[in-house]
Amino acid sequence: MIPANRIEQILITVAQAVIAAEDELNALDRAIGDGDHGNNMSRGCTELQANIADVDFGSLSEVFSYAGRTLLSSIGGASGALYGSLFMTMGRSMDDQPGYSNFVDSLAAGVDAIRELGGADINQKTMLDVIIPVLERLQSASEPDISALSEYAEQCSLHTIDMRAEKGRAAFLGDRSIGHQDPGARSSQVIISSICQAL
Ligand code: ADP
Ligand code: MG
Repeated sequence: MIPANRIEQILITVAQAVIAAEDELNALDRAIGDGDHGNNMSRGCTELQANIADVDFGSLSEVFSYAGRTLLSSIGGASGALYGSLFMTMGRSMDDQPGYSNFVDSLAAGVDAIRELGGADINQKTMLDVIIPVLERLQSASEPDISALSEYAEQCSLHTIDMRAEKGRAAFLGDRSIGHQDPGARSSQVIISSICQAL
């Protein structure tokens, strides 16, 4: 599996991609929410990027736990708690030297944490509409096809355009939420695609 210092570099790359998407994420959230998703994500990722190189990590699990705590305390909004618990749960359930299947299991535990915390599931127009299908792809393969995964995440994210929001702020719009891409699905896609690119 990937060494902890390599993961640090990957997370910095991911943080940069999310920061670069700030305006786009704000615009998506303005259409069906309160317009702050880009600011929220950018704040968390700026914090992560500024501090991650200064901490000495003994294992991959420590990197994920640290990233989760940082995101939880700095993103704010619904997405802060959800992304924070995704990464913290992944860190907690990961072996010190995780192999592929342990890594995928820890992602599954992280997805369960999001489900439990937010009460949402697939097809409700949230970040889970990207994260769950990607998890299922990883679970069904013994090794991921990285470039196909990135494209798949994009398709899933665009698929939220046709969905009606059932959870989160966008649910207040009911049918009027249809026709807009979910901002959290887009940020999850940016995260996944930038990990794929870094790998
Ligand atoms: P807020 O809605 O508090 O302003 P953000 O704008 O940062 O928070 O994040 C909104 C995103 O969070 C949504 O686009 C959606 O993807 C995600 N989200 C909101 N509620 C839930 C939930 N219950 N489960 C999963 N994801 C959710
Ligand atoms: Mg918002």
